[in-house]
Amino acid sequence: MKTAILGAGVSGLALARFLIEAGFPRELISLFEAGPRVGGLCASKTVDGFTYDVTGGHILYSKDGPAMQWMKDCAGGDAAFVKRDRHTKIRFEDRWVHYPFENGLGDLPPQANFDCLKGYIEAWHRRQVSGSSAPTRFGDWVRWRFGDGIAKHFMDPYNAKVWKREPNFMSSDWVAGRVPDAPVDDVLRSSVGIRTEGYTHQSIFYYPLEGGFQAITDGIGAALLDRVRTSTPVTELQRSSGGWRVNGEAFDCVVSTLALTDLPQLVREMPAAPAQAMRSLEFNSITCILVALDRAEHPNLSWIYLPHASQGPTNRVTYMSNYSPRMAPAGKSSLLCEVTHDSKAPTPGPELEREVLAGLEHAGLLRRDEVLFTDRVTTRFAYVVFDELYHARRREAFDYLERVGLTTLGRFGRFEYDNSDQCVIKARELARQLLERARRG
Ligand SMILES: Cc1cc2nc3c(=O)[nH]c(=O)nc-3n(C[C@H](O)[C@H](O)[C@H](O)COP(=O)(O)OP(=O)(O)OC[C@H]3O[C@@H](n4cnc5c(N)ncnc54)[C@H](O)[C@@H]3O)c2cc1C
Repeated sequence: MKTAILGAGVSGLALARFLIEAGFPRELISLFEAGPRVGGLCASKTVDGFTYDVTGGHILYSKDGPAMQWMKDCAGGDAAFVKRDRHTKIRFEDRWVHYPFENGLGDLPPQANFDCLKGYIEAWHRRQVSGSSAPTRFGDWVRWRFGDGIAKHFMDPYNAKVWKREPNFMSSDWVAGRVPDAPVDDVLRSSVGIRTEGYTHQSIFYYPLEGGFQAITDGIGAALLDRVRTSTPVTELQRSSGGWRVNGEAFDCVVSTLALTDLPQLVREMPAAPAQAMRSLEFNSITCILVALDRAEHPNLSWIYLPHASQGPTNRVTYMSNYSPRMAPAGKSSLLCEVTHDSKAPTPGPELEREVLAGLEHAGLLRRDEVLFTDRVTTRFAYVVFDELYHARRREAFDYLERVGLTTLGRFGRFEYDNSDQCVIKARELARQLLERARRG
């Protein structure tokens, strides 16, 4: 079964690796990758000895132990990774607030603490009395779940920065498992100053000692070098008898990890309805700015959230040089700033660096005279935006794809909010299905 895998990010690479590890003939697999190297969103970049993850600070953690171990083993095993405790905070005015926010109310100024607690209890009480089910729109959901105080002081301003849309533009179904959800007792405790933890499944993470997160995709890809065609964009997909043609070449099976939104321009005979559904899927792009600092050390933080407009356009800052001692030259350190933009908006101009640095200075995170240089990378596909038409568009898209036998995989291949470990888990399952199909002949 001659197989083409479109895209050599972690999804495409993992699929190829799992197939080959299970005995699928490697010569029957070809990966098409538009970029000059593998890795996709997991890529890292090194400038003057400073390494950063170009799509925002990435960490390795998973609820699926075997999948995570497989990723580590591909990249040199446990010894090639640093184990880190997650230290995450919210920069609230001039204070450090414990993350998740509702587990950190006691760190807030008294009035904000009161507003948040009052709103939280009112919302909790309303739910108890009414037995209401979760609202389907995100903005309504935030108030239903957290109350007006947390909405006003954190959720609304922070989400406006990340999503660049009105809160009710989005639906609430993506929040399960992503927006932490503390028990009411923990919120009461945290408000009066008793420390509580939330979101413990991510309290430890792993990071490659060398080379940034990309060391993982480099490791997965190392066994596939003869199978990957880099700098080879897919420009045309055509159905043929029993399979598909990729750039004119016939394959029995094609798995695409390319963004669904891009498929209509590649599959020219696609009917109007699924093409329109795919093109209309909403997503955000991201510009990540490395700030190289002439300072040896940071506070012991992994990353922080910046909810206030006065802190500039950055929504999240990763303390990149804390991830591994090899991320910055000796005696230096680095921050990585994430700024999202609506994919339909123009890429921010050079004023972005000025605004980012001014915001970080205002937030008390750096002094201008410590900044050695900045470096930026913009990535078109960063976040799936879950608006109210998301499910309908996806259904239309997948009905078509199933009809024509085009399989998709990956964060934007399936338009799901997946981390790299989930991409690996889904690639493992798809490999199992494809092997079964190949055996059946
Ligand atoms: C801000 C941010 C933070 C994240 N943090 C984490 C984290 O901490 N931990 C974690 O595990 N995950 C994290 N993720 C998620 C992770 O980056 C993705 O889940 C994963 O990299 C997606 O891999 P993929 O292979 O599905 O897609 P991609 O990496 O997008 O791969 C698709 C590939 O297709 C190629 N391509 C595109 N068009 C064409 C074409 N026409 N022809 C050929 N090739 C083409 C692209 O160049 C790319 O290499 C984060 C993501 C973002 C945006």
